[in-house]
Amino acid sequence: MDVPKPGIIVPTDAVVKVLKTTICGTDLHILKGDVPAVTKGSILGHEGVGIIEEVGNAVNNLKKGDHVLISCITSCGKCEYCKKQMYSHCEDGGWILGHLIDGTQAGYVRIPHADNSLYLIPEGANEEALVMLSDILLTGHEIGVLYGAVKPGDTIAIVGAGPIGMSVLLTAQFYSPNL
Ligand SMILES: [Zn+2]
Ligand SMILES: [Zn+2]
Repeated sequence: MDVPKPGIIVPTDAVVKVLKTTICGTDLHILKGDVPAVTKGSILGHEGVGIIEEVGNAVNNLKKGDHVLISCITSCGKCEYCKKQMYSHCEDGGWILGHLIDGTQAGYVRIPHADNSLYLIPEGANEEALVMLSDILLTGHEIGVLYGAVKPGDTIAIVGAGPIGMSVLLTAQFYSPNL
Protein backbone atom coordinates (compact mmCIF):
# COMPACT_ATOMS: atom_id res chain seq x y z
CA MET A 1 0.00 0.00 0.00
CA ASP A 2 1.05 3.61 -0.37
CA VAL A 3 2.30 5.32 2.79
CA PRO A 4 3.97 8.69 3.31
CA LYS A 5 7.76 8.67 2.82
CA PRO A 6 9.50 8.72 6.24
CA GLY A 7 11.51 11.78 7.21
CA ILE A 8 14.00 12.81 9.88
CA ILE A 9 12.30 13.13 13.28
CA VAL A 10 15.32 13.66 15.55
CA PRO A 11 18.78 14.86 14.38
CA THR A 12 20.43 11.44 14.94
CA ASP A 13 18.09 9.78 12.38
CA ALA A 14 18.84 8.78 8.82
CA VAL A 15 16.39 7.83 6.08
CA VAL A 16 17.51 4.89 3.94
CA LYS A 17 16.22 3.91 0.50
CA VAL A 18 15.86 0.13 0.82
CA LEU A 19 17.52 -1.92 -1.94
CA LYS A 20 17.23 -5.40 -0.45
CA THR A 21 15.30 -6.77 2.49
CA THR A 22 14.11 -10.11 3.84
CA ILE A 23 11.23 -11.83 5.59
CA CYS A 24 12.22 -13.19 9.00
CA GLY A 25 10.68 -15.88 11.19
CA THR A 26 10.00 -13.02 13.58
CA ASP A 27 7.65 -11.49 11.00
CA LEU A 28 5.72 -14.76 10.93
CA HIS A 29 5.34 -14.61 14.72
CA ILE A 30 3.94 -11.09 14.31
CA LEU A 31 1.47 -12.22 11.63
CA LYS A 32 0.38 -15.06 13.93
CA GLY A 33 -0.36 -12.47 16.65
CA ASP A 34 2.46 -13.42 19.06
CA VAL A 35 3.85 -9.87 19.29
CA PRO A 36 1.00 -7.64 20.48
CA ALA A 37 3.25 -4.55 20.58
CA VAL A 38 3.05 -4.44 16.78
CA THR A 39 0.00 -2.42 15.86
CA LYS A 40 -2.13 -2.97 12.76
CA GLY A 41 -0.80 -1.15 9.72
CA SER A 42 2.82 -1.14 10.95
CA ILE A 43 5.48 -1.81 8.33
CA LEU A 44 7.35 -5.01 9.21
CA GLY A 45 11.00 -5.90 8.55
CA HIS A 46 14.25 -5.34 10.43
CA GLU A 47 16.86 -6.40 7.89
CA GLY A 48 18.18 -4.78 4.75
CA VAL A 49 20.75 -2.93 2.73
CA GLY A 50 20.19 0.42 1.11
CA ILE A 51 21.41 3.88 0.19
CA ILE A 52 21.28 6.85 2.55
CA GLU A 53 18.64 9.27 1.31
CA GLU A 54 18.88 11.88 4.07
CA VAL A 55 20.69 12.34 7.40
CA GLY A 56 19.83 14.42 10.43
CA ASN A 57 22.33 17.12 11.36
CA ALA A 58 23.71 15.13 14.32
CA VAL A 59 24.73 12.16 12.13
CA ASN A 60 28.52 12.33 11.80
CA ASN A 61 29.70 9.15 10.10
CA LEU A 62 27.29 8.81 7.19
CA LYS A 63 26.11 10.97 4.31
CA LYS A 64 23.57 10.94 1.48
CA GLY A 65 24.50 8.36 -1.15
CA ASP A 66 26.40 6.02 1.20
CA HIS A 67 25.55 2.32 0.84
CA VAL A 68 24.72 0.85 4.24
CA LEU A 69 23.85 -2.38 5.99
CA ILE A 70 20.91 -1.96 8.38
CA SER A 71 21.32 -3.71 11.75
CA CYS A 72 18.22 -5.47 13.06
CA ILE A 73 19.18 -3.91 16.40
CA THR A 74 19.10 -0.13 16.85
CA SER A 75 21.60 1.15 19.44
CA CYS A 76 22.33 4.56 20.90
CA GLY A 77 25.94 3.64 21.71
CA LYS A 78 25.82 5.62 24.97
CA CYS A 79 23.59 3.90 27.55
CA GLU A 80 24.81 1.40 30.16
CA TYR A 81 23.79 -1.59 28.03
CA CYS A 82 25.45 -0.25 24.87
CA LYS A 83 28.65 0.35 26.85
CA LYS A 84 28.59 -3.34 27.80
CA GLN A 85 27.98 -4.20 24.11
CA MET A 86 24.51 -5.54 25.01
CA TYR A 87 22.96 -3.56 22.18
CA SER A 88 19.71 -5.51 22.03
CA HIS A 89 18.97 -4.13 25.53
CA CYS A 90 19.71 -0.51 24.49
CA GLU A 91 17.53 1.86 26.54
CA ASP A 92 16.58 3.79 23.40
CA GLY A 93 16.79 1.03 20.83
CA GLY A 94 17.11 -2.74 20.70
CA TRP A 95 14.72 -4.51 18.38
CA ILE A 96 12.43 -1.66 17.39
CA LEU A 97 12.45 -1.81 13.54
CA GLY A 98 9.32 -3.50 12.25
CA HIS A 99 8.21 -3.81 15.87
CA LEU A 100 7.78 -0.49 17.70
CA ILE A 101 8.50 1.69 14.65
CA ASP A 102 8.03 1.13 10.92
CA GLY A 103 10.50 -1.36 9.44
CA THR A 104 12.46 -2.17 6.31
CA GLN A 105 9.86 -3.89 4.11
CA ALA A 106 9.19 -0.59 2.35
CA GLY A 107 10.74 1.74 -0.19
CA TYR A 108 12.26 3.90 2.56
CA VAL A 109 12.91 3.42 6.27
CA ARG A 110 13.81 5.83 9.07
CA ILE A 111 16.73 4.56 11.16
CA PRO A 112 17.18 6.12 14.64
CA HIS A 113 20.72 6.49 16.04
CA ALA A 114 22.02 6.10 12.51
CA ASP A 115 25.72 6.39 13.42
CA ASN A 116 25.46 3.26 15.61
CA SER A 117 22.77 1.34 13.77
CA LEU A 118 23.99 1.46 10.16
CA TYR A 119 27.24 0.05 8.76
CA LEU A 120 29.00 1.51 5.74
CA ILE A 121 29.32 -1.04 2.91
CA PRO A 122 32.69 -1.00 1.16
CA GLU A 123 32.60 -0.39 -2.57
CA GLY A 124 32.34 -3.55 -4.66
CA ALA A 125 30.93 -5.70 -1.83
CA ASN A 126 28.21 -8.20 -2.70
CA GLU A 127 25.17 -6.46 -1.22
CA GLU A 128 22.84 -9.40 -1.78
CA ALA A 129 25.10 -11.52 0.43
CA LEU A 130 25.53 -8.72 2.98
CA VAL A 131 21.82 -8.54 3.74
CA MET A 132 22.34 -11.86 5.57
CA LEU A 133 24.45 -9.91 8.10
CA SER A 134 21.51 -7.76 9.25
CA ASP A 135 20.30 -10.66 11.38
CA ILE A 136 20.12 -14.15 9.85
CA LEU A 137 23.73 -15.35 9.68
CA LEU A 138 24.54 -13.88 13.10
CA THR A 139 21.39 -15.29 14.70
CA GLY A 140 22.22 -18.75 13.33
CA HIS A 141 25.72 -18.41 14.76
CA GLU A 142 24.78 -16.99 18.15
CA ILE A 143 21.56 -18.85 18.95
CA GLY A 144 22.34 -22.09 17.14
CA VAL A 145 26.09 -22.56 17.38
CA LEU A 146 27.27 -20.52 20.39
CA TYR A 147 24.25 -21.36 22.60
CA GLY A 148 24.54 -24.96 21.38
CA ALA A 149 28.18 -24.92 22.57
CA VAL A 150 29.35 -26.70 19.41
CA LYS A 151 32.91 -27.95 19.80
CA PRO A 152 35.34 -30.02 17.73
CA GLY A 153 34.14 -33.58 17.15
CA ASP A 154 30.51 -32.91 18.17
CA THR A 155 27.70 -34.41 16.16
CA ILE A 156 25.03 -31.76 15.62
CA ALA A 157 21.43 -31.97 14.50
CA ILE A 158 19.78 -28.96 12.85
CA VAL A 159 16.01 -29.06 13.06
CA GLY A 160 14.51 -26.94 10.29
CA ALA A 161 16.48 -25.97 7.21
CA GLY A 162 15.28 -22.44 6.60
CA PRO A 163 17.75 -19.55 6.35
CA ILE A 164 18.63 -19.74 10.07
CA GLY A 165 19.21 -23.51 9.90
CA MET A 166 21.41 -23.04 6.85
CA SER A 167 23.32 -20.28 8.65
CA VAL A 168 23.91 -22.73 11.51
CA LEU A 169 25.18 -25.27 8.98
CA LEU A 170 27.66 -22.71 7.62
CA THR A 171 28.89 -21.22 10.88
CA ALA A 172 29.02 -24.51 12.85
CA GLN A 173 31.85 -25.52 10.52
CA PHE A 174 34.16 -22.96 12.18
CA TYR A 175 34.05 -25.26 15.23
CA SER A 176 34.99 -28.51 13.43
CA PRO A 177 32.02 -30.74 14.29
CA ASN A 178 31.63 -34.15 12.62
CA LEU A 179 30.06 -33.73 9.20
ZN1 LIG B 1 15.24 -11.21 11.44
ZN1 LIG C 1 22.01 2.29 24.07
